[in-house]
This record gives sequence, structure tokens and C-alpha cells, in this order.
Amino acid sequence: MEKISVAIRFRPFRSQESIFSDRYWRIEDNRSISLHRPLGTPVSGVSFAFDHVFDHTFTNEMVYSMLIKSIIDAAVHGFNGTAFAYGQTSSGKTFTMNGSENELGIIQLAVRDVFNNVEMIKDREFLIRVSYMEIYNEEINDLLSLGSERLPIHESLERGIYVSGLREDIVNCSDQVLQLIKLGEANRRFGETNMNARSSRSHTIFRMIIESSLKEQGSSDDISDADAIRVSVLNLVDLAGSERISKTGAGGVRLKEGKYINKSLMILGNVINKLSESGKQRGHIPYRDSKLTRILQPALGGNAKTSIICTVAPEEDHIEESRGTLLFASRAK
Ligand code: ADP
Ligand code: MG
Repeated sequence: MEKISVAIRFRPFRSQESIFSDRYWRIEDNRSISLHRPLGTPVSGVSFAFDHVFDHTFTNEMVYSMLIKSIIDAAVHGFNGTAFAYGQTSSGKTFTMNGSENELGIIQLAVRDVFNNVEMIKDREFLIRVSYMEIYNEEINDLLSLGSERLPIHESLERGIYVSGLREDIVNCSDQVLQLIKLGEANRRFGETNMNARSSRSHTIFRMIIESSLKEQGSSDDISDADAIRVSVLNLVDLAGSERISKTGAGGVRLKEGKYINKSLMILGNVINKLSESGKQRGHIPYRDSKLTRILQPALGGNAKTSIICTVAPEEDHIEESRGTLLFASRAK
């Protein structure tokens, strides 16, 4: 089992004046973080170490090349991979995964590299498929197909675990994939009612299935069957906001959403926590306890590569949520 790599990413401060009070979280050696009282001493017992800590000066491209690129390269060579963005709403998950007008996100960079890689591998034939789904209140909706909602998860011998009825498009180039992502984003906005930024209350999974087979070659006696055909799944996941329900201060729909989110993120934490324990002590891994972990099961554990980017809002009023995010992150290691 590969170690799960866990990174923290601080987004820039929202307003100019807070730059001067930028001392709540202190980063050392790009690896550890401690909480300080402004102008004061560290708050005791609050210090965390991670694989990477990215401050506001790191671009998506830098985060991608330090943390994610190796997952993408491995996926092209037949290894499953998953990258998550975890954090409270407004901490930078979507910016990280999907980018902005000025910056490509992890997803766009990954798509580019998948096709670059494929181009360079001359002895294999590739078939690449893309799907894009959201999990909202424990229901799976197809973002590429309006009206495809509440899709069930099935399991079969030949397909393994899969979402039944999910649109999977065969794609041949980056542009085609980027168009599909745009379609998915448009469909998601269509599903949002007034004042309900549903996107921050759902998990979205962008998935590429990369299949390849060896091209015909003169003498193929020494080629093992295992290498003849490879199939790998790459999941790039923008999780629902991790904030506590009470903070949103609402009942009804909001409360229901919050409960589902808290539960599925907790189960994700449990699964990842189990996976990071060494073999024998690990015991039962509760994949089945949520749709998210069930869908991702084939690409978590085993020889899959997994990375979690925990995004943090640096402002003082987010300290409690940020602390929660760092705790989640340190449990994942
Ligand atoms: P989330 O998806 O976690 O709710 P967003 O990605 O929407 O958060 O980020 C909230 C705001 O902060 C957006 O306006 C976004 O463009 C901005 N932002 C987030 N991270 C960064 C970053 N690293 N650099 C610049 N702007 C960022
Ligand atoms: Mg978002």
C-alpha cells in the first residue's frame, strides 16, 4: 500500500488589511504548521506536520507538479489514483481542482498530462473515457446528463463496483474533455435554486478511465498477460464544504445537507485513516458506509496512489474550522 500523501494549502487573504494580522498560522520548512496568538507565543499543543504545506505563493501548477503529477503519470501506466480537495467552503477547493479564469486547475492540468503521456507511449493503444458526477444528500447525479439522478451503485464480476447508468464518453483529446467539464458545470448550475450554492454542498467526482493494450508486435512471447491490457481509474474529487452545520445556522434543507456532508466526510476520514494504518492492524475498512467511499473503493487502497489537498482559509474568524481541517489532515497520515 502506497502512503497517502497529505498536503495543506492556504489560500491568500481576502482583504488587504488582514495581511498585517497574517500571523495566526505559522509555516515552517514547507512542512509544519503551528497556531500562534497574534504577536504572541505558539498556542501549546497545536502543531501539525504534513508532506507539504503550501502558502499563498504557490500556484495550482506548482501544487500540481509537486503533489499530483506522479499520480497522473502512474494512472497512464495502469495504476489507480485519487486526489481530493478537502476544506471548508471558501477555502479554495474549487480553485484548486477547477482553477479560475487566470489559472488552470488540477483537473485541467491532469487532463493535459494524460494526453501528453499517451502521445509519448508508442507501443500501446489507449481508450480513455470520462465521467463527471456529484453526490448530493447521498444521491448520485450525472453531471453530464441532465435528468440522470439518483443513480444506483452496482457491483458485478466483470465491471467491479460501478454507477449504473452513468454517462461515460470516449475522449480523444484535451479539448473534448474540457468541453465535457463545461457541460457538467452548466448542468450543475441548472440544478441550483436561488441562494442555494449547492455546489459547495455536494461532492463532485471527475473521473477518467484509462485503458490500454499492447499494439501488435512481431514476437510477443515474452509479454506477460498482465501487461497486455491495463485499466486504471483516476478520480479527481472536489469535496463538499467541511464546515460544521451549526455555523451555517439553519434548519430544514440546510440541516439535512449538513448531516449528510458531515457523515460522509467522517466516513471518508475513517476509511483513509484505516488505509494509512499498516496491514495487520487495519481490520475492516468501512467503504460501504457512504456512497463516496463506495464509489472510490477501487481506487483507494491496494496499489492506488492517493493525495489529499486540505485547503485552509487563513483569516482569524476561520481558526476553528481550519483547526478541524488540520485535524482531518493529520488523521489521514
Ligand atoms: P471552495 O471551493 O473551497 O468553497 P473557492 O475555490 O470557491 O472555495 O475559493 C473561494 C474564493 O477564493 C474564490 O474567489 C477563489 O477564486 C479564491 N481563491 C481560493 N484559493 C485561491 C488561491 N490559491 N489563489 C487565489 N485565489 C484563490
Ligand atoms: Mg467549491
